[in-house]
Amino acid sequence: MKIYCDYCGTQIDTDKNNNCPNCGASFADNERLKKALAREEKERRAAKANIKVDEIFREFDKRKNEKKLGQAAMVIGIISIGVIIIMLVKLVAAFV
Ligand SMILES: [Zn+2]
Repeated sequence: MKIYCDYCGTQIDTDKNNNCPNCGASFADNERLKKALAREEKERRAAKANIKVDEIFREFDKRKNEKKLGQAAMVIGIISIGVIIIMLVKLVAAFV
């Protein structure tokens, strides 16, 4: 990931450097990096949730059963609520 040093503004590739190559500053507490990492984590979780939804839809097609469809819709609803709760908790945690 490419970020800019908080101290000197040099672009740093976090995959290659542990410190700013120009001024040597650590970017462990770089706010932009923290935010970017939090965003990546959120995207990763969202992608994981999408995979679960896909699996449920595949299950629909296999069974072609009204009752199962209703149950799967309920599961999707529960997963969605779970994802929303996780996002809200992360959002709140980000501001504390
Ligand atoms: Zn620097």
